[in-house]
Amino acid sequence: MSTSTPVDGTLFASLDPPRLAGSRCDACGTVVFPLALSCPRCSAAALSEVALPERGTLWSWTVQGFQPKAPYVLPGDDFVPYAVGYVDLGDVIVEGHLVGDRELLRIGLPVRLTLTQATGETVTYAFEPDLEPS
Ligand SMILES: [Zn+2]
Repeated sequence: MSTSTPVDGTLFASLDPPRLAGSRCDACGTVVFPLALSCPRCSAAALSEVALPERGTLWSWTVQGFQPKAPYVLPGDDFVPYAVGYVDLGDVIVEGHLVGDRELLRIGLPVRLTLTQATGETVTYAFEPDLEPS
């Protein structure tokens, strides 16, 4: 899925390899995702775009067992329960879908960024178990 259209181009610093785009505050160093216009910690307006690490650890997770309300859009015809979690990327914790073997999910699991279908031809980000953590 390396030659696809992102569901929102501002999410990514690059698609191949996939890297999320975050903002680092020039004043206090706070890192946020997605991109921000001002720092949520010190309110400074000077932030720099940074490519977030592609690997992290699962901070917490759950399985979404029912269809969320709008604006959620089904990626297919029928709702299928999916795993979602918070991933600690070091400077920031990012929420995202979790794909791959659900039996492996546990707090502290090494995970890495990947792409998954969003709607139609578009892709978004997800995290999958990192079976070969560096
Ligand atoms: Zn700041």
